[in-house]
Amino acid sequence: MALFQQMYSAPSIAVRVVRSRSISMAATSTARKTVSAVSTTPVRTPHIDSHVLLGMSELDLQQLATDLGQQKYRGKQLHQLIYKSKVKEIQDFNQLPLAFRNDLQEAGWKVGRSPLHQVVKAADGTIKVLIKLHDNRLIETVGIPVEDDKGTIRLTACVSSQVGCPLRCAFCATGKGGYLRNLQRHEIVEQVLAIEDLFKNRVSNVVFMGMGEPMLNLKAVLEAHRCLNKDIQIGQRMITISTVGVPNTIKKLASHKLQSTLAVSLHAPNQRLRETIVPSAKAYPLDALMKDCKDYFDETSRRVSFEYTLLAGVNDAVEHAVELAELLRAWGSGYHVNLIPFNPIEDTEFRRPYKKTILAFAAALESRKVTTSIRQTRGLDANAACGQLRNSFQKSPLVAEAGMPITEPDTVAAVG
Ligand code: SF4
Repeated sequence: MALFQQMYSAPSIAVRVVRSRSISMAATSTARKTVSAVSTTPVRTPHIDSHVLLGMSELDLQQLATDLGQQKYRGKQLHQLIYKSKVKEIQDFNQLPLAFRNDLQEAGWKVGRSPLHQVVKAADGTIKVLIKLHDNRLIETVGIPVEDDKGTIRLTACVSSQVGCPLRCAFCATGKGGYLRNLQRHEIVEQVLAIEDLFKNRVSNVVFMGMGEPMLNLKAVLEAHRCLNKDIQIGQRMITISTVGVPNTIKKLASHKLQSTLAVSLHAPNQRLRETIVPSAKAYPLDALMKDCKDYFDETSRRVSFEYTLLAGVNDAVEHAVELAELLRAWGSGYHVNLIPFNPIEDTEFRRPYKKTILAFAAALESRKVTTSIRQTRGLDANAACGQLRNSFQKSPLVAEAGMPITEPDTVAAVG
């Protein structure tokens, strides 16, 4: 759910680039596979690395310690080293006996942290990071600092759940870039730790709105959710799982009774229009999606957030707002509509609506008692929008070209 491509734009922001040392990427032939057809079938994660410490609970780490002939409390120390001290390599676990460190390494264990490939910082403090995974794939993560009335900084991490995305929503840079694989749980968790490292601050909120459709990787998303909540101590209510809608998955999520927010990307008030914007909607009629959302609310008592990207001349007319209000009429107070003015990307025919159109749309909803907000546009420029930063490095983003040079992203043009 690459909603952040809509969120982060700003007029004439010059971006600062911090480079990692590693500037070449090895090509692999298997990387050249692409998913050409739209599919809503959950995809299995290939080459799961079972010897990764990150993502493990304290209990699991205690078990590992005792399996390797150590006292149980060594597991607690491992937990602190990974999640509190955020040590990235086993050889740097200085509180642990050398023999234990050696045993861990000889058994093939690793922490599971990846190098940062590039960091782009916007004038308002928003930071976008490209993380280079063990198979040379690049994923994007965004850190958004927001200062509240009392001057406290709330730090949100927008995390990816897949390398690319197979759903190919019409307006999405990530969807245009193709799809390779699901992320493993530690690859989701490490994004949050990377943001904490960069900001030298704790992440308070996590939104699964980066690259990929979280519901196509629900097992790893739920495992990462557990770790973020229990091990990194981010409240469940501070975590949002976003989806464009994948059949049979919202029910599954509801059965876990998490106290997290479900954000559903509608983008249209009727099935016919929705199918033109979200091709995967063909497999999941709007009526069925709305019923599953209602069941989620009934099951969890958590308000559902409906995301609606406003595309000029496509879905932004007052009539669309009226139809949307009608769709939500039976919902009472169990929902919220979040309007997201489109942020143009390369190679797209879509445009951002004028401000007066956006305000008229919101007013039409509010006058019909629909709780509505308009998402603030801030942070990074359009060229660094979700999916685009990565695409600028990997023109075919599923392929890591050997020796491909890194180029500086351009200074940004004004948007909107
Ligand atoms: S193509 Fe994938 S990442 Fe992009 S908006 Fe659709 S579901 Fe989200």
